[in-house]
Amino acid sequence: MSAIATEVTEILHFINGKATAGAGTETHPVYNPATGEVTGQLRLASPADLDETVAAAVAAAASWSETSLVKRTKILFRFQQLLTEHTDELARIVTSEHGKVLSDAAGEIGRGIEVVEFACGISQALKGEFSDQVSGGIDVFSFRQPLGVVAGITPFNFPVMVPLWMAPVAIATGNAFILKPSERDPSAALLIAELFKQAGLPDGVFQVLHGGKETVDGLLTHPDVDGISFVGSTPIAKYVHETATKHGKRVQALGGAKNHAVIMPDADMELAADHINAAAFGSAGQRCMAISVAVAVGDAADALVDKLAERGRGVNVSHGFDEKADMGPVITPASKSRLQKIVGEAEEAGAALILDGRDLVVKDHENGFFVGPTILDKVSREMSAYTEEIFGPVLVVLRVASLEEAIEVVNANPYGNGTAIFTSSGAHARTYTRRIHVGMVGVNIPLPVPVAWHSFGGWKDSLFGEHHIYGPDGVRFYTRGKAVTQRWPEPAQASTASFNFPSN
Ligand code: NAD
Repeated sequence: MSAIATEVTEILHFINGKATAGAGTETHPVYNPATGEVTGQLRLASPADLDETVAAAVAAAASWSETSLVKRTKILFRFQQLLTEHTDELARIVTSEHGKVLSDAAGEIGRGIEVVEFACGISQALKGEFSDQVSGGIDVFSFRQPLGVVAGITPFNFPVMVPLWMAPVAIATGNAFILKPSERDPSAALLIAELFKQAGLPDGVFQVLHGGKETVDGLLTHPDVDGISFVGSTPIAKYVHETATKHGKRVQALGGAKNHAVIMPDADMELAADHINAAAFGSAGQRCMAISVAVAVGDAADALVDKLAERGRGVNVSHGFDEKADMGPVITPASKSRLQKIVGEAEEAGAALILDGRDLVVKDHENGFFVGPTILDKVSREMSAYTEEIFGPVLVVLRVASLEEAIEVVNANPYGNGTAIFTSSGAHARTYTRRIHVGMVGVNIPLPVPVAWHSFGGWKDSLFGEHHIYGPDGVRFYTRGKAVTQRWPEPAQASTASFNFPSN
């Protein structure tokens, strides 16, 4: 934390329809990871800012939930259009603060827009159920109503897509939504807020409040916040789930990952190596669905490792605005030094360092937080390179004897976000997809991120709570069910009241 700086951009909150500095006096520096320079000073919310934001959300939720489905949907259609028109502007903001290459930033915005498109069809997703004449003159109908005020707490690695996993569905279902973005790349959230406003969303329905732990704790414990969607690392996800649940809120908390790709000897090795290379090093490995472990089965290992090394050497590491770049920097100097330490420990413990990107320097960007693709072979399950989520461009290779052993390895891992199998055998694929304890599985697909009308979520330490995010589970998460049993007797109808429990 530091005093407010004036020479760099001041990054504001968006409360009740207006960009505002709020009452807080603390700020947090925001970096361009490709240059190492501070580019922004982020305003951190005070407790008074939090109260003002929640009060605005409560007021907005009351009228928004009464707004017709058709009016809500029209605003979402306009929002979709505006996001599409502003994709380049949004992508540039993401690249400047996150570091990922521009085309990848546009890609994450595209996946977020798909969730908005799903939310445009909310009238279909919210259709209730009706049973006629369940008893003499009695009908039952059930339908879903919004929670009220929900907050989304999001990670740095997808500053547009992850907020759009949450807000469109929360808003379409009639809630007011408060976004607490990552303090590392917070600016895209402000443009999202402006676009919602331009689309005609009433003030207070979508707000942005910046802050760290204190602000998160304020949201988790505030009596007027009804639901929490969290995406981030596992220790914080667990904490968020426990704290908000204790305070009576509905919570979905998505955590970290260690995603394994199993490569069978019968796989198309060229296809497997191409896809694992892109899935391990794309976005500098900072994706919750990145492949960070290749589990090579039997004699797949030697051929695979040779091909991975060849492809890894060909990855072009540069700043995200370089059109030739495949991947950019990692997010902070701390991420870089942590990665360097873990790779060093693995080497000392006997792993084979096939490709070493630890000391990579990008010309004219010597102060950027760059690391090159790094591959460790013959890694054992005790090494920190395997037990820790590195969240950088490091791929570890485990060698196993059989599909059975591969399944045992993946199922023993505490994370269960995504996994993939590369094989030409339908039988192997079927066995793997059925027996693996992981929420999202790819067959010859390394990043099996479900499309917007399915739902996204991991198992075990990758998700705390009952609901996956967006898609049908998103609709269920942001709404509560209600069943109405009704009788409208004809004037002449005899009363059937009874002291016994009614039976039909
Ligand atoms: P993080 O857990 O450090 O931060 C996530 C959010 O929590 C941020 O908004 C941050 O301000 C807040 N936060 C941080 N420390 C806190 C604390 N002590 N108390 C309360 N709030 C706190 O995660 P990150 O580094 O921004 O993002 C990377 C992590 O997110 C990785 O572990 C990655 O796997 C995970 N992730 C998971 C998914 C998924 O879908 N499962 C998606 C994207 C990212």
